[in-house]
Parts: sequence; structure tokens; C-alpha cells
Amino acid sequence: MRPAPWTLPIDDVGLVPFGKGVERGLDERALCTRGIQLETLAGLGLPVGAGLTIPVPNVPGLTAPDRAKAAMNLLEKISGRTVGGTTESGGLVLLRLSASAPVETAGLPPDLVCLGLKRSIIPEDLGERARADLGAAWWKSAAFIAEYALGVSGDDLGTLDFDYPDPIARVDPFRALCAEKGTSPFPSKRSEQVAAGARAMIERWNSPRAARARKKQNLPADLPLALHLETVVVTEHDDEGNGYATSRDFETGAFAPTGVFRHGFRLSGERQHVGHPLSSLPDGVEMLTGVLAELEGRLRSAVLVDFEYGPDGLALVGLERIKRPSARVATSLAVDLAIRGITDEAEAVQSVEATHVLELLHPQPKLTGDEVELVTGLPASPGAAVGRIALDSESAVELSEAGEHPLLVMGETSPGDLPGMMAATGILTVSGGSASHAAVVARGMGTPAICGAGSLRIDREAETVSAGSHTLHAGDVISIDGATGIAYVGALEIERPGPSPSLTTLLGWADDARRLGVRANADTGPDAEVAMGNGAEGIGLCRTEHQFLGERLPLVRRVILSHDFDAEQAALRDLADAQREDFRDLLRAVGDRPVTVRLLDAPMHEFLPASAEEAEDEHQARMLGHLHEENPMLGVRGVRLALMHEGLYPAQVEGLFNAWVDVVSSDGIRPELEVMVPLVSIPEELVMSLRLIRRVNQEVASRTGMIVPFKIGTMIETPRAALMADKLAQWAEFMSFGTNDLTQLTYGFSRDDVERRMLGTYLEKGLMTASPFAELDDEGVGGLMKFAVARAREVRPDIKLGICGEHGGDPSSIAFCEQLGLNYVSCSPSRIAVARLAAAHARLDAA
Ligand code: PEP
Ligand code: MG
Repeated sequence: MRPAPWTLPIDDVGLVPFGKGVERGLDERALCTRGIQLETLAGLGLPVGAGLTIPVPNVPGLTAPDRAKAAMNLLEKISGRTVGGTTESGGLVLLRLSASAPVETAGLPPDLVCLGLKRSIIPEDLGERARADLGAAWWKSAAFIAEYALGVSGDDLGTLDFDYPDPIARVDPFRALCAEKGTSPFPSKRSEQVAAGARAMIERWNSPRAARARKKQNLPADLPLALHLETVVVTEHDDEGNGYATSRDFETGAFAPTGVFRHGFRLSGERQHVGHPLSSLPDGVEMLTGVLAELEGRLRSAVLVDFEYGPDGLALVGLERIKRPSARVATSLAVDLAIRGITDEAEAVQSVEATHVLELLHPQPKLTGDEVELVTGLPASPGAAVGRIALDSESAVELSEAGEHPLLVMGETSPGDLPGMMAATGILTVSGGSASHAAVVARGMGTPAICGAGSLRIDREAETVSAGSHTLHAGDVISIDGATGIAYVGALEIERPGPSPSLTTLLGWADDARRLGVRANADTGPDAEVAMGNGAEGIGLCRTEHQFLGERLPLVRRVILSHDFDAEQAALRDLADAQREDFRDLLRAVGDRPVTVRLLDAPMHEFLPASAEEAEDEHQARMLGHLHEENPMLGVRGVRLALMHEGLYPAQVEGLFNAWVDVVSSDGIRPELEVMVPLVSIPEELVMSLRLIRRVNQEVASRTGMIVPFKIGTMIETPRAALMADKLAQWAEFMSFGTNDLTQLTYGFSRDDVERRMLGTYLEKGLMTASPFAELDDEGVGGLMKFAVARAREVRPDIKLGICGEHGGDPSSIAFCEQLGLNYVSCSPSRIAVARLAAAHARLDAA
């Protein structure tokens, strides 16, 4: 292992003027962060302030007055200023000693400003502002030196009455205190003050408290220091002072020097955010514009500079790369650098993290640090929402009709809750994972949601929800952040992102770079419209069962629970009519693009009445007991139900084909229909479904005179389907990996429960690093996919392969899909932008 850099021996290299360290072979181990910042600035030919770095190995030497004197002499020579003297414009020249470490760290000793003060400096010819600065300097430096350097305790300092109108008069009590309680009198010689300052800083840095603080930051206790010595000027002039500027406006992300300018010198190492706008500096913005543009171009990062401004113009004294820029800044920077020709479009795309752009698309809470957390769950659907607690679907609808914003809080949701889910501004559930009903539906609708908040207790009788020490009532206001999974008590301020032209440009470049198609999981016309607006190239999954939620639920129930042939036929006719209407809306939103319509996959427990009381008649009530399943997710779902009720899929495709004929005739569009059969595990299931569908296709053709073109495909959701992919490919023209069920069935993990109950423990024990329902398990589930892809392509080389489980919107899973050579990914409308960017990353990284 490479030894920690600061433990390497470095020769005695003396005192290093800012910007001269690299040419002497020094790096961050000797010059530390501040020294390196100044090297970077000087290396780019930018104006840096006059100052010295005392490199790590030489720091102890500075505690000797003769070495301190040598440092001062050198500083005077390179700055052209005399410490204690005046500048040409009449400013008083003093000293600042500061420290930095080889790595960023909190807890550095505070800057010692205004070393070099002497009792003999009488500020009579200084104006009011300079007198105030000088007073502050006396105050600060005397206190620092008395406290650190000369062994006077804070308690003794506390006994001093600081209330002296004349700042100079403050010096005497300090001197007296140092003489009486300190280890030596207050030094009057400037070089001794510098040496004492260096000693004070080293002692503070080496104190057990500071060492403990470093340990907390996982830094070595013996992390060393470099010191930096500079001149500062006490001045009365309006155009002399200091400030900072960032290269970007953080609100808009645009390039615009933004910061403040303050008169006088910087009193503390902490950056001051109050001051005059940069425009108050003569030519200030113009000069900084050039500097910041140069720095952004060279460092490929948004930056912040600290500067001093005086008669000689601008001098840079500090530089920071903005390490975690907001998505707005990151996106504009990436686009600007590419437009300037510094990077290219591919680099721009690669420089922005895919999930980061969610910030630009969804409302975010404005956090102040004062908010009260209620509970944490899984971040199930991005965006933030504030609303009144509604404990069931009906109350949510009522609140919404009364003009309120309901936030639906439930144990879990089922299809019957759709009206409330649609009325709600946000959804919070106690159980359910990231592929649960609530999560899937919320993402599809673009509603913020948190699922699996396991420590939330709902008391339906008392109409309360509680977590930890908080108990809230139905109607109380809460806020949720679906991006982090945190729910808060009360109303948080929510920021709604405005449009981002840079993001539009960047996503266009991503589209040029990617190979994978990006489609949306959308079930209704409005959802599909949103998805197309977000740049989806088609629909990769229309879950038709979502068209039967809420008021339409009885249509499916009547098919499943019908007591005779006629009743079933009547129910199927109603179902076909309803579907025709639904599909017309969907196809209009899709236009000429492809649309994968997945035939009904209705887990019984989600579709049947919860109890006999909710049944429509006695027959239905009796059937309920008969149809009860212990494991409905492994029961009569998907194609299995359709083969037990053979009219079901024909009714659906009749609605679909008729809708296609309608929109082709009335709207002049030709959507590319793909009909997909769910939960197949036996190839014959697909063959039988195909036969039923073809028959309807011919019937529609003979009735309307139009042959509706369609492709037939299957979902790969069961391990057996993956293993039988070659057989399935004989019939299927496309396949889509339903990785929600495929993950559930490969692991044997319930997609509704495992994340809430078990995942935390598994993550803690290191058995997993992420939920397999959120990030595709590329070894196990991915192994099956790889096998299936190879087998399917052997039989049908041009087979179209996609993914439509929730993983289709997850960047690491998308990278795996690129490796597999899938044709497209399909995800919820709210993640389309993420998927477009992630697909481009995957392609560019592979290249
Ligand atoms: C899947 O299982 O991955 C899938 C897309 O189907 P659903 O989530 O509707 O079960
Ligand atoms: Mg499924």
C-alpha cells in the first residue's frame, strides 16, 4: 500500500512564494490544499496574491524568530510592501498567517490576521473605515496571541472588560495579562509575533481535541500542516478590499460571476457572504468573468475564487472547485463547456450523473435543517408533496373535492384505491416495496410516493398515524420527499423546477449517443402523453389491468365471477367496449410509435372484493371463498387466468384492434401494435393465446375490411420462461423482461414484503449491497436474462428484446441491459430523462 503522502520525507525546501512550489518539485503533501490552489491559479497565468507557503517540513522552523524574520523579509521583497508601512494609496500593511492540510479538513486553526501590529501604529491619518478595521485587527490579533501563544487561559481572558471605546486602549490590558499570566510578555517585534503565531497554530493543531476531531473525519491524527504568510492592507479606499465570486448563478445554473465585494481586509478565514455586489467594483465583473471562464475551461468544473482588489488590480488568493454542484449548475456547465469546444458532446453527457437530473424535473423540498422527520421509507416515486392526511381512498377523494390537497396514508394500496391515489398529491404506505402496487402506480402517474415506511402505525379507529413520538390525526398536514423516502411533520416549502434549456440540449446529445431505445410504462392516454413529452420513443408496457381500477373494477370482476355463459359474454362485451375507448386515448397519444399492450395480468387478491359484504350478489359472495388463494402472486394470474376464461384476451384485443381501426381512420396515425402475453412459463400458453388473438384479428379484418398489423410477444417473468426462451422465440416476435416478477421468482423474495422486512438486515450484514428490486441482480436474475437472450437470438436473430420491470429506469441496470444487447428499456414516464442519459452513459462507457 502507498504510504500516506504526508509521511513521505521531503527535503528542506525553505519558503515558497505562491505559485513557485511545483517548479521546486513540491506537491500537495508539502504545499497542502491552499498552496496547491495558488499553484493552480499561478500555473494558469492568473494573477495571484503575494504570499509564501511554509511547506510541511519547514513549519516547525517558523517558530524560530530568525526564520520568521527571513519569511517576512522574503514576503516584503515579493510583495513590494513593507510590513507596518503604508502602500502608495495610504493603506497600512499588516500580516496574515493561515494554515491548511494536505487534504480538505474541518478544524484548522483560525487565521491569525494582522500580525505585525505595533503599539506605535497610531491610526490618526486613517479614515473612519480603516480605523474600524484596525480596531477589529487589534481586537482579534491581541486576543489570538494572548489566548494561544502565550498561555493565557480563556477563563482569564473572560475576566477582562472588553468595553473600551478606543481599540488601541484594548491592547494594554492584553499586554498586562500576558505579562502576568502568560508564559512570556506580548512580543513587540514583528518577527517574534509571527513565530509566536506559528507556534500557536501548531499547538492548537496538535491538541488532543483537534486530533480527536480528525479521527472523526477518518483522517490520521498526525495529519500535518503547511502555513501561509501574506500581507493584508488596512485601507480607506472604496475600490480596495476583498471578496469571493462563483462562476455560476446557483438559481439558474448559468455562467455569471456571482458573489460579494467587501471593503477592507478579510478579518477571518471564514468566507463572508454579506457585502456589495461585484458590479460595485470598477471593471470587477469583467475581470472576474475572464478569470472564471478560464478556470472553468481548464478545471472543467464550476469554481469559486477568493480575491483581493487594490490599486494593482485583482489578486486571487483562494480557489475551490464546486464539488457537488446542483443539477442545474452541472447541466449548464456541461453544455457550456461542450459549446465552447473545451469538451465534446459525449463528454458533456458523461459528466452529468443520470439520477441527478431528477432534481430538474420534480418538485423538491426546500430544507432548512429545522424540519421534523416523521418516518423514513423507500423512495418509491420522485418529487415532493404537501397534503392533509387521508387514511383511505374515499377520504382522499372527499378532501380533494373540498379543494384540499390530500396525502394518502395507507397500510398498502390495491386497485380499488385508484380514485384516492389519483386525487392525492402524494402517497405514503407502511408496507410494499419499490415494485409494489403503490410504487408502480404512483410512478406511472408521476405522484410522489414513499412505500414501506415500516415504523408508521395507522389506527383506523382513532384516525391517527404515529411514528416515534409523533401522533398525527387524519386531516393534519404532512410533507413527503419521494426522492429520499423521508416524510415530515407539517408543511415544507416546495420548490417547483422551472424549465431547463440546458437539460433539453444535453438529453438531445444523449439521444445521439445511445443505442438502447427508451420507452415508457404508461397505461392511459394522459400518462402516455406525459411520457412522449419526456422523450419516450414509444410505450414498452401498457398494463391493461390498470385500466380496470376504480370504477372499472366491476368489469373484470364480473368476468371472473360470472355464474353462467350468458353473464360472462355480457361482461366480456362491456369489457371490450370499455377497452376500445381506453385504447383510442392511448393510441392517439402514441401516434406512429410502437406500443406494447400487455394483456390482463390480474392477481386475484387485487381484483376480487375484499370480503363477501363487498360482493355484488350472493353468487359473487359464494365464489369468493372458492377463488381464495394462499399465494395470489403465484396463483391464477396473467395468462393463466386468460386460459381459464378464454373470452378475456379476445375481448381485450377486440377493443384494441377496433381502437386501431378507429384512430387510423379518424386521426391518420398508424401506431405499431405489439400484443404481449404476461406470466408465461409454458410455451403452449403463448401458442394458445396467439391462436385466440389471431382469430379476433381475422374477425375484425372481415368486419372492417382492415387488417390490423400487430406483433405478438411474451413477457419473460418466470425463471422457466427464461430457460425456455428458445421455444418461446419460435412464436414470439419480441420479448420483454418483467424483472419485477423475475426477481421475485428467482430469489423467491416477495416483491411486496422483502424490502420492508428483511432488506435492512441483509444490507447491514453485507449479504446485499442494494435492493434487487431497485438494482438488477446481474449475476442471478441477470444470468437468466443472458441465457434467455442468447437462446432466443439463436432461434430468431432479429427478435426484439426489452425490459419493462422497474429496473428499466435504474442507471446501473440500464448499463447491464446495454451489455446484454437488449433493444430497449421501458420505465415510468418520470424516469424517462434518467433512462435517456443512463442509456447514453452505458453506450459511451462501453465504447
Ligand atoms: C414485471 O414483473 O417486471 C412487470 C413489468 O410486470 P408487473 O410489475 O406488472 O408485474
Ligand atoms: Mg410482472
